[in-house]
Amino acid sequence: MADCLFCKIARREIPAALVYEDERVIAFNDINPQAPTHVLVVPKEHHANVAHLSADAPETLVQLFESIRAVADSEGLGDRFRLVFNTGPEAGQSVFHVHAHVLGGRPMGWPPG
Ligand code: 5GP
Ligand code: ZN
Repeated sequence: MADCLFCKIARREIPAALVYEDERVIAFNDINPQAPTHVLVVPKEHHANVAHLSADAPETLVQLFESIRAVADSEGLGDRFRLVFNTGPEAGQSVFHVHAHVLGGRPMGWPPG
């Protein structure tokens, strides 16, 4: 996807503060963090959202979750974090390349806004 922001970050055409990378996944700090730790974990392959990813490439979904665990460990969150996939504009999705928000380092309220 030539004009996709997260494809461009994955291709290193736009800089980002990388915290993790492997063959299929890249992770970087959110530019507008909502918690002391706020990392976006992104498959390099373009899929519009997590629903498309699970339908079209379930093996990548599994790898994405393995990467999320690795990021949570390396960020010192262990098993204390919130995982968010905003899916669709009504749910707050603004970048239409699937990404997991890994948020941690402060208490979280519920329900989300
Ligand atoms: P969404 O709203 O789609 O769930 O999440 C998109 C996220 O991408 C937002 O939290 C936003 O702050 C972040 N974001 C948007 N543009 C950039 C950018 O250029 N670099 C980084 N690191 N994050 C970005
Ligand atoms: Zn993309």
